[in-house]
Amino acid sequence: MTETFDDLGLAPEILRAVKEEGYASPTPVQLQAIPIALAGRDLIARAQTGTGKTAAFALPILQRLKAHANTSFSPARHPVRALIVTPTRELAVQVEQSFRAYGRHVPLRPCVVYGGVPMGPQEKALLGGVEILVATPGRLLDHAGSRTVNLGQVEVLVLDEADRMLDMGFIEDIRRIIALLPEKRQNLLFSATLAPEVKALANTILRDPDEVDVAPKVSAAESVEQVAYLVDADRKRDLLAHLVRSRDLHQVLVFTRTKQMAGRLASWLDRVGVDATAIHGDRSQSERERALNEFKSGEVRVLVATDVAARGLDIEALPQVVNFELPYHPQDYVHRIGRTGRAGMKGHAISLVSLDEEEQLVAVNKLLKRDLPLRQIRGFELDPRATPPARGSRPSGGRGGGRGRR
Ligand code: AMP
Repeated sequence: MTETFDDLGLAPEILRAVKEEGYASPTPVQLQAIPIALAGRDLIARAQTGTGKTAAFALPILQRLKAHANTSFSPARHPVRALIVTPTRELAVQVEQSFRAYGRHVPLRPCVVYGGVPMGPQEKALLGGVEILVATPGRLLDHAGSRTVNLGQVEVLVLDEADRMLDMGFIEDIRRIIALLPEKRQNLLFSATLAPEVKALANTILRDPDEVDVAPKVSAAESVEQVAYLVDADRKRDLLAHLVRSRDLHQVLVFTRTKQMAGRLASWLDRVGVDATAIHGDRSQSERERALNEFKSGEVRVLVATDVAARGLDIEALPQVVNFELPYHPQDYVHRIGRTGRAGMKGHAISLVSLDEEEQLVAVNKLLKRDLPLRQIRGFELDPRATPPARGSRPSGGRGGGRGRR
């Protein structure tokens, strides 16, 4: 197997951009997926964010479309030839930025469209002609419906984070998008898991795909100090406020399972004097950007996010991450704590675990192949009179609950 970018058969202007990005050698998913994609074959790849998957599809797409690159002013000379569908706006923006970076020496036009912002500027960009379109499903269909974009010349379709798109209920949208594409095209599907639903989707879309499987980066967890504090569900928020204050924590990313809980917890923290904001899918793009900027600048100490909203957010190397609730999918635990402890820094991941989360804790321990140390904090010990609720019931995670799924 080849080990360097130079051996992959990429054009000099693409290799130049890759070197300018500072990439010394391809990551495992790039090593495996790039030759398959360059050969024009369909691909199903299990790879999470952080593995370098974006370049794994962006580089071969740039190579393929390079032959069509031109500087003509005529929109007709710039039809959409590659379509990348992503679950979230943040991921869409990042993917488009990657295309811009890797394609900086190739005159192809990337463009990104997503919901929550006015259609007008996007329409203008689309009507000017773009070869590479990165989009979230709903907004793409809006543009297709108003005929600002024609997908009849798409040569390559990428479904990025396909598992997330299914989780978020985009299956019908994806089918409607596919109906707008030419029959003959290359399909590349990336997903953090290859759950049966993902495979079923792949079966209906991909043609005789090659498969690439890159192990989840569980090792990221090794540079993170992890601890779980046992606490009654209705005292979690008090414990969180106590930890933030008593340990003088700043830049704390807190994960909840649902957007209702994210919103409620952030407002509560704010009310008790811990500056906090929430980021979740219901907020407009400008609200999300504002929340993120406030957090990055240190204006707010705590950012409360759902797994979905945090996906694709450019926030890494944080000093600590708090799991206010353990996730339903243990893989999300690894995603969450991967936000801390980057670049040689020791990160801290704190999980607040109530008795009703035993099932999730067991699943996380199984995935990590070790048991999270369980502790209690003085003054927040479990109430000995409390009995664990029946297995399988959903925890409330705080006074008043917050049950809706995401
Ligand atoms: P992704 O999984 O595509 O979101 O990429 C995760 C991060 O890895 C991004 O910040 C990329 O810029 C970076 N990256 C991608 N490929 C490489 C590489 N071959 N060497 C070093 N960093 C890379």
